[in-house]
Parts: sequence; C-alpha cells; structure tokens
Amino acid sequence: MSEKENRLGFRYNPRFLQAITAMTKFVFVTGGVVSSLGKGITAASLAAILESRGLKVTLLKLDPYINVDPGTMSPFQHGEVFVTEDGAETDLDLGHYERFISAKMRKANNFTTGQIYESVIRKERRGEYLGKTVQVIPHITNEIQVFIDRGVRSAWNGYPDVAIVEIGGTVGDIESLPFLEAARQMNLRLGRNSVAFVHLTLVPYIATAGELKTKPTQHSVQKLREIGISPNVLLCRADRQIPLDECSKISLFANVPKEAVISVWDVDTIYKIPQMLHDQGMDCIICDELKLTPAPADLSTWSRLVEAVEHPKHAVTIGMVGKYVDLTESYKSLIEALKHASIHTETLVNIEYIDSEQIEKDGEGVLIDLDGILVPGGFGRRGTEGKIRAIRYARENCVPYLGICLGMQLAVIEFARHVVNLDYANSTEFELSTTHPVVALITEWQDREGKNETRTKDSELGGTMRLGSQCVPVKPGTLASKIYGDTVNERHRHRYEVNNYYVPLLEAAGLIVSARTPSENLLEIIELSQEVHPWFFCVQFHPEFTSTPRYGHPLFKAYVEAVLSERQSREKATLVSKD
Ligand code: GLN
Repeated sequence: MSEKENRLGFRYNPRFLQAITAMTKFVFVTGGVVSSLGKGITAASLAAILESRGLKVTLLKLDPYINVDPGTMSPFQHGEVFVTEDGAETDLDLGHYERFISAKMRKANNFTTGQIYESVIRKERRGEYLGKTVQVIPHITNEIQVFIDRGVRSAWNGYPDVAIVEIGGTVGDIESLPFLEAARQMNLRLGRNSVAFVHLTLVPYIATAGELKTKPTQHSVQKLREIGISPNVLLCRADRQIPLDECSKISLFANVPKEAVISVWDVDTIYKIPQMLHDQGMDCIICDELKLTPAPADLSTWSRLVEAVEHPKHAVTIGMVGKYVDLTESYKSLIEALKHASIHTETLVNIEYIDSEQIEKDGEGVLIDLDGILVPGGFGRRGTEGKIRAIRYARENCVPYLGICLGMQLAVIEFARHVVNLDYANSTEFELSTTHPVVALITEWQDREGKNETRTKDSELGGTMRLGSQCVPVKPGTLASKIYGDTVNERHRHRYEVNNYYVPLLEAAGLIVSARTPSENLLEIIELSQEVHPWFFCVQFHPEFTSTPRYGHPLFKAYVEAVLSERQSREKATLVSKD
C-alpha cells in the first residue's frame, strides 16, 4: 500500500490510520499505582459530559491480558462478562460505557492482547510480512492501531468526533506496554491537538501521618513520561477532596498545569461523577487541548438522577440468591439495573446477597423477611439446589420472583419437580444422566429422540453459546406483553435451553410460556398466572444489559413495582389484623 503524508508531514500508512482524514480526536485514559480506581466509570463520565456538549463520542477498552475474550474467565477474577448487542463477550467497562452515553458498544469496542497476537500470527502464517522479522514494534503496535481504528468506527458506523480509549491495567505493568507505545505513536502520527492523555492515579491517605501522600502519583507519572506520554489531565483518586496545596505539589512534580490536577473523591453514587469532573473544568481542558469548541455542557439529566437516588419515597428489600455473592462485580449490570429501577420507581432497593449454599445448609430462614427474590444468571452445579429451594419458597409463599437465565432454568426444574411431580428433573449441565432433562443442550434433546448429534460439551468452551440480541414476539394477554408490548429484543448468553419435549407437561400444569424464538421455538419467557401468584416471571435472556440510568428498564421497573405493591398489601394486612 502506498504511503501518504498527514497534515504535519508525517508519512503514514493509510491502512492503519484512516482516522487522520476523518479528524476523530482521541483521549487515552491510563491508570497508575493500583487497579480498581474506577477508570471505566471516569472514562464514561468524561464521555457523558462531552456528549452533553453535542459531540459524537465513542469509547474503547483495550485489555492487556492474553485471553482472546473474557468469556471463559472466572467471574471471581474478572467480574461480569458484558454482552454486546452483536453478541461479543466483553469487559464489564463496556456496560458502564452504554449506561453513560447513547452509543451502543459493539464487538470491536473491546479487544485484548490475545486478539492482537492472534491476528498478527495469522498474517505472519499467510506470509503478509514478506519475510520480515515480526516484532512488538512495529508489528504488534501497528496492529493495535488497526484495531483502534476499527473500534472507533464501529459504534457510529463512521467516525465520531471523539474516541475515548481506556487502556486496561496499570502503568508499569509489562503487559500494557505495547498499548501505551501504540498510543504514543498515534500521538506522534496524528500531530498536535489530536490526542489528549488522561491519567488516573491514587493519592492515599495515611492515617498514622494524617496526610495525603502524593509520591505514588509522582512515580506513576514519571513512568508514563519514560514511555513518552505526558498526561494533559491528572485525575487523583482519594477518599476525600485533595486540598489545593497538595494539587500544586502534584502539578509541580508531575509537570501538569495546576488546573489540570483534578480531585476525584469517593461518592455514594457513580452518577455524581460527570458533574464532579465538569465542576473542575475537565471537559474544558480536554476540549482546549483538542481544539474543539462544542456547546456548553448540560448535565441536568444527571443531576435529576442523583436527586432521585437521594430522595426515594419507598423502600423494599430484594434477596439476590447467587453463588458469587461476595463479589458484587460479577453482577455489575444487574445491580445497576436494580438501581435504575429504584430511580424510576422512587423506591430504594436494598439488595441482600444470599449465598445459595447457605440455604442448602441452614434452610429457607434467611428468606423470610424479603420483599422479593431474584435468581440471576450463573454456571455450574454448585449452589443450584439452594437456588431451587429459594424459588420454591417464592412460588409457594407468593413472594415476587424474577428469574434471569439460570434463574429461569432452575424455576422450570423446580416447577417440574414439585408441581408436575417429575421427581428427579434437572439440567444436564448439573447431572448428565438425569431421568428428566427438562433443561439440556439442544443436541441432547435430539439424543433423546434418537438422533445421533455430537455433543457440544466435548468441544471448545469459547464461542459455543447463544449470544447477543434476538427479537421475538410476545404472546398477547400475558404479563410479558404488559411489560414488553408485542416484541422483546434482549441479549443472551447461555448454552442450555428448556427442553421442548417437556413443555406440554409444564403448560398443562399451569406454566405459561409467553415468548418463544420464532425459528427454533426456544423458550424465552415463562410466567405464572397472576391468579395463582402475584408476580412470578422468568426470562432466558439478560435484561440487565440494556438498562440505562436515564430510561430505566421496563422489566426491572415492573418487578420493583410488584415487590413494592406486595409489601404494601402485606403491611396493610398486618395493620388490619392488629386492629
Ligand atoms: N448455565 C446456564 C447455561 O449455560 C445459564 C447461563 C446463564 O445464566 N448466563 O445455559
């Protein structure tokens, strides 16, 4: 491919920097000192401010690990796997991005070192490097830029005004070096006022000294400058506001203007962060650096949200019965979706995390004071019997129940066992030789009908799931149609399906199937008639991925409303009985 010259006279290969012509501006966000400082939320908050100023914004997450995607990683280690509309299993930060801005993230918005190497090695095998020695610089770093360019275009089907690129890991890690080097090269290639760097660091408070310490920040900025990157903005995370004299000290040592040293302190709701950054002028510093002159910021939506979070009129307690209950990161989108429902129903939702194995050991006692029960998605056998007991408790005691993915499969097993009396009903995920596989891989239903299909169980784990958005019709007259209308379009991430062979039996016993996929006839939504239970609703998909703070989500709103109304009628009944 022939080389071209960019507007500063640098020669570049147009194949990997088309964005030069499109004039997209870049903001790279790096992290220093420690992980888990909230880089994703900070990047998304900056994006939200820029969007409120009328700019077209997208976000990208670059992950330095070698796994091809987080799909096969343990939620204990990696937190939730966020699923995009186009069915990619991505980093949970993409969930924050979709909750803060209007663009929908796609597969290309998140990539890993594993994907970069996979692509480079494939090219090398095809002889595309013409016998050259393939090296980290320039081949890996060029490939990173090709992927960035592709990612920038994906959300808007064209180039946005600004792309905020979050680099995972911490500056100083070996793994993230090629990403930082690629960012440095892009800065050089694109020239002045095209790229800005934001560095998020920790300013710890040492209680024994009674002081905030700036040294770790100084060192992490030095590390960044060694690589050739000078941050334009330093975001200093601390448990408190950083006093001006400390900001001046950081400014001097880190070579960043005083006004660009921004304090990011702990807040009770993440939806306060856009306002916090804007109040300290962060978006103006970035726009000045990038020579952008957008409209003034309008953060009124965010302040309305914060107002609603802080002044709820009612309160309910929902028990979330799960396996990774100690790690709320594993249920990030679900917890956020319940918070959004809180905002839109003026009802504070207290979530009680209940370990299903505790129910197996100590019984249903822990469920007694709950206003609602929810069983979220999950994998593997451990803890499933406890979840089934919780679902039975909800069904028999008229406690509003929401089952999501595994929570629906287990509700079907519970119904089959205790209502249809199929004693050993189970999912083949937990018991391969169960007598009643009411939940199984589609290939296993066919086995039962005597067809000899290969079992997906023996094949690779990555990429064998039903993933991404699917739009299906909803049966009129059902609770589902009240919530969703005529169709439901939600994202999936699962392997096992309710076995159609058993559905007539389940339906005859009162289970209502309110949505099925049109082509394969797979169960999407089930419910119980409101004549027998006030609110019992299960979905095979993951509605939590499409909930946003601005609009909430119809299913979570309906659930919280049902939980509240049941609580209120119980309270009324107790009052009457006391009289
Ligand atoms: N383990 C179940 C399956 O693979 C459910 C998955 C989930 O809840 N996301 O089908």
